[in-house]
Amino acid sequence: MTMTEPISEKSDFIRDIINEDQQAEKFQQRVHTRFPPEPNGYLHIGHAKSICLNYGIAREYNGKFNLRFDDTNPTKEDQEYVDSIIDDVKWLGGDFEDRLFYASDYFDRMYEWAEKLIAHGKAYVCDLTGDEIRAMRGTLTEPGSESPYRTRSAEENLALFARMKSGEFPDGTKTLRAKIDMASPNINMRDPIMYRIVHEEHHRQGSTWCIYPTYDWAHGLEDSIEGVTHSICTLEFENHRPLYDWYIEQLGIFHPRQIEFARLNLTYTILSKRKLLRLVQEHHVSGWDDPRMPTIVGYRRRGYTADAIKNFCDIIGVAKRDSTIDVALLEHGIREDLNTKAARVMAVLHPVKVIITNYPEGSVESLEAVNNPEDETAGTRQLPFGREIYIEQDDFREVPPPKYYRLSPGTEVRLRYAYIIKCETIVKDDNGTITEIHCTYDADTRSGMPGASRKVKATIHWVSANDAVDAEVRLYDRLFVKENPDDAEEGNDFLSNLNPHSLQVLQQCKVERMLGAAAPGDRFQFERLGYFCADARDTKPGAPVFNRIVSLRDAWAKIEQKGQQKK
Ligand code: ATP
Ligand code: MG
Repeated sequence: MTMTEPISEKSDFIRDIINEDQQAEKFQQRVHTRFPPEPNGYLHIGHAKSICLNYGIAREYNGKFNLRFDDTNPTKEDQEYVDSIIDDVKWLGGDFEDRLFYASDYFDRMYEWAEKLIAHGKAYVCDLTGDEIRAMRGTLTEPGSESPYRTRSAEENLALFARMKSGEFPDGTKTLRAKIDMASPNINMRDPIMYRIVHEEHHRQGSTWCIYPTYDWAHGLEDSIEGVTHSICTLEFENHRPLYDWYIEQLGIFHPRQIEFARLNLTYTILSKRKLLRLVQEHHVSGWDDPRMPTIVGYRRRGYTADAIKNFCDIIGVAKRDSTIDVALLEHGIREDLNTKAARVMAVLHPVKVIITNYPEGSVESLEAVNNPEDETAGTRQLPFGREIYIEQDDFREVPPPKYYRLSPGTEVRLRYAYIIKCETIVKDDNGTITEIHCTYDADTRSGMPGASRKVKATIHWVSANDAVDAEVRLYDRLFVKENPDDAEEGNDFLSNLNPHSLQVLQQCKVERMLGAAAPGDRFQFERLGYFCADARDTKPGAPVFNRIVSLRDAWAKIEQKGQQKK
């Protein structure tokens, strides 16, 4: 490979920029990226996109990838979030090796750099309140006005800044501001705040500090200290780039390149930490790891695989314009991934008992079932079959509607991996509810018998009554009823679009015996029903709880088919 050939096989505007930098021998052809979460919440699928992008680029260019906590705001941050974020980044395969950093470890250096700017007349201590600063900032069309404290001498500023640091002043009474240009067309350049006074315990620094750097002041310094070459962030920081560059240029330190891309938006999904926190705090979900949450911990508990999430992030790619991705695409990817990985099993969610009246009482036989038709190495298993089985209530109709081919009085169906049965009579209780369906079986129709190939119109799943284990099954649906959950009626917010049926809990479902031994996190395809995962919190030996990961209905495949038909 020659120097001028792009190294990455993928192509997008970010990789184009990096390829140009490589060719221009900028950064000595190093590529170093980072993922810089603020530990004030759990990571969601949008963060996964950022992790996959940053880590993916580092890997493709033989570069490095850092995990750095941007822990500059003590009021909202917590060790709980730090721990979960580390875990999630690793789970997604973001390998930061030994490069786990904390912005708060750089506070001393940032403080010295602030002193340097003050000494050079590039920063000043301002006594205006937050409201006053905001009021004097001007608008998009009008310049701002200068603070009366702007002309303080460097000596006075240095002394005041030291007193701010030593805790002499209450919260909000002073700030350190960069002295740039109150008439700049870019409002971010109108003497932005560098430090605020916040008397609050920091999750790592304790009470060492009572002044905290703002994002804009801190972020470029963090990148520079770590030797990050390409600082990739979301579009809302585009207008902050001149400030990012200004601080670094004033200090004359290593200058990373900030590149912005459009953040991920998903239909039927909220991806704002603040709103996700509300869902948790106001108990609309059971926690950050509720399987309906778009958090990584939620998806993991639901049963989504890291491979499918990474693949999704690859497919959607990066763009410079905001757009919204159809959540069906994510669900489609989960199905595709699980199709090859998940063993097929039988589970009956709404059971009704079938008694096969001509089957010898007390007799049990073993039938062979394929574990995964998509994976030959998955082998087969033996299913016990006996006189009493469970089938789905929905697979029987006393009065079948037109084109209903499953079981009804006098008709036949095939039992998966077993016999053809025929409905003879039904038994009802006093309320008219069907309690038993009495059938006969055709002993000639099991695999290996001459009648094995006899065709009937439907095949249904079942579980042997003697062998069945009771399970709880949780059926999840989308958390919001609207494609854009923020699109609420006047006076309402996104909570008014919550889906009241996003969780349905079924007790006493009947599942194959082997599922009683499912380990937390094990994934299966329940034949004809969908993909399910043994809940990591609530599954107990012999008492499994299953989360529905996705149903088998693939809305995305349908959309794709339609698209192809049109072509
Ligand atoms: P908030 O939800 O409060 O706006 P945030 O999601 O930006 O916060 P950070 O912890 O600052 O929280 O995010 C860490 C990194 O993840 C940032 O680089 C940010 O740009 C990126 N990121 C956050 N949300 C998305 C998203 N929806 N799509 C892509 N990247 C994202
Ligand atoms: Mg942010």
